Amino acid sequence: MKRTSKKPPRLPVGRQERGAKTWIDSQRIEKAVAEILAAVGEDPQREGLKYTPRRVAKMYCELLAGMHKDPKEHLGSVFAENYDEIVLLRDIPFYSICEHHLMPFMGSAHVAYLPAGRVLGVSKLARIVDDFARRLQTQERLTYQIADFIMDSLKPQGAAVVIEASHSCMTIRGIKKPGSVMVTSALRGIFRRDPRSRSELLSLIHNGVR
Ligand code: ZN
Repeated sequence: MKRTSKKPPRLPVGRQERGAKTWIDSQRIEKAVAEILAAVGEDPQREGLKYTPRRVAKMYCELLAGMHKDPKEHLGSVFAENYDEIVLLRDIPFYSICEHHLMPFMGSAHVAYLPAGRVLGVSKLARIVDDFARRLQTQERLTYQIADFIMDSLKPQGAAVVIEASHSCMTIRGIKKPGSVMVTSALRGIFRRDPRSRSELLSLIHNGVR
């Protein structure tokens, strides 16, 4: 196939960190997408498809930008604080890519922790969700990775993550059940041990403060 040589070889993804692999090989994605177009019987050179491989490569660089990011960069805004009640950020919208089908799954994440002397800047919880979501994922792994990251990095009394998501690989293909929502949860520390903390958390997630 004809290749244009002026294209930049790679697209930068995220922040460059010393020693870390921070690049996705977008040119390789372009070649692969052109191959898919040919495989389905299309002409990859026709007007409407000419830039499709490049657009798809750019899209994957964006959707998978978390693969070469370290969420620890958000820990710059950890503050000492004596607050010892639940901190919950509810209804965080997220988009991720199912690693089995390379199709998106999306929904809401609810992320909570019970501090032990340290709290995190509130927007950071959402950024941590994004960093883990923008990878090839399963919903189960996304859920426990976020919970474990908060436990390991913030050392709270407990952390909890509940994710509700719709998977396009099962709403528009395969079993085709639009509207079905998969719910996963990861409870750590006090939320796993103590039924009262757990039920307080779940009622905050489902009802908010009434
Ligand atoms: Zn899937």
